[in-house]
Amino acid sequence: MDRRRTYSKTPSKTTSKNGKLSQNDQLLGDDVPRFRLNARQTIYKKLRLHSEADESELREIARCIEHGIYESLPKPFQQNDYMAQSMEISAALNRDASYTQSLLNKSLDPVDFGKMTYEELASDDLKKQREIWYKDALKRSMIDEGWSSEATDYYTCPKCGAKHSLFRKMPAPSVDDVEITEIQCLDCLNIWRDP
Ligand SMILES: [Zn+2]
Repeated sequence: MDRRRTYSKTPSKTTSKNGKLSQNDQLLGDDVPRFRLNARQTIYKKLRLHSEADESELREIARCIEHGIYESLPKPFQQNDYMAQSMEISAALNRDASYTQSLLNKSLDPVDFGKMTYEELASDDLKKQREIWYKDALKRSMIDEGWSSEATDYYTCPKCGAKHSLFRKMPAPSVDDVEITEIQCLDCLNIWRDP
């Protein structure tokens, strides 16, 4: 006899059979999908690495951070975006204890923290390194476009005051016109012309 099997669906909600939240979920707060609860749990563990604070306090901070992560995402919602953002946040908490301290002393809002971008979360060292890479790449592409190959200290940037720029001579529109030099500040990337 060919009997068709029926499979029971895996419950997708965070409720148990009796419709109540499990104890763990109650600790975590409201009724949200499993992947969000998992993210809160991960964030809680990262906070715990750097703090002896009361469990309920850390759980509440974790809940707010996770809320920020969720809120920060572009719509329509993509779970991949969510995973990427929550991994960035967890990694930042793991790497830098000062985030946990700032969250606990309330100088950093947990929802805002959850919304912080990859760039904002980068350590100061990483930010500096990225800036160097960026300026190197920029300088190379500018040289390709006819800019001077060496930085000069001849011009003072009218925007930031730095004396660190590349320049190029612009072709004069006619023989009677003064030659114009285009200058780009390598510190703030401002572009101006002389005269
Ligand atoms: Zn400048």
